[in-house]
Amino acid sequence: MENRLRLLWSLQQVDSSLDELQEMKGDLPGIVKELNDKIQTIVRQKKELEETIKRAFVKRDETDVEILSLKEKIEKYKAQQFQVKTNKQYDTLGREIDQSQERIATLTSEMEILEGKAGVAKGDVEKLGPELEALEAEFKDRDKELQEVNKEHEDEELRLNHQREKIVARVQKNDYQMYERIRKAKDGRAIVPVKRNACGGCFNRVPPQRVLELRKNNALMTCERCGRVLVSDEIAAAKPEGL
Ligand SMILES: [Zn+2]
Repeated sequence: MENRLRLLWSLQQVDSSLDELQEMKGDLPGIVKELNDKIQTIVRQKKELEETIKRAFVKRDETDVEILSLKEKIEKYKAQQFQVKTNKQYDTLGREIDQSQERIATLTSEMEILEGKAGVAKGDVEKLGPELEALEAEFKDRDKELQEVNKEHEDEELRLNHQREKIVARVQKNDYQMYERIRKAKDGRAIVPVKRNACGGCFNRVPPQRVLELRKNNALMTCERCGRVLVSDEIAAAKPEGL
């Protein structure tokens, strides 16, 4: 039992050190990720808008060509109208001319709608440009900051994680599950020493009789108020396992 308690206390110390490192990084990892997500979204939006503009240009060129050829046809029909011999032939050409003119009108209005859309898209792209630039600049700064913090603590973090693995390998499965559960619920601190007859986690008074029991290091005792596992001074003062 004493060994179980020592292992849990060691694990707690390693985790507390890792938590401290994490705290030093503060909100930076989250901020950097959020900035990156925003940038990706805008890049995607911008690309879609640019595609819309490109498609509009292609379509406009095609429409221009079609209108031009329709106009040529109309001219041709008009010239032919002077040469025909019957009214029927004349009327047939007249209908061809009308149809071509209708088609030109349709194409023209379609092109106007398309140009309107392209114009809006162009305005949106222009607005996104500076926004993207600002975000990219901020991302660069924050990311650099984060890399510096990471680099500064890289070795320490690696060492602690390695240590943690070694300790976890020796902790009983049930103990580990209990530890993780309490740690999650209690602000990262699952194992606390009793200091001056009080729980080191919530400072609730621990009755002298229980303190005496605790000093035997042969039972897993929890604080009656906060539920954290209590360890004796002796265990808390000992050189941590694997450190
Ligand atoms: Zn407590």
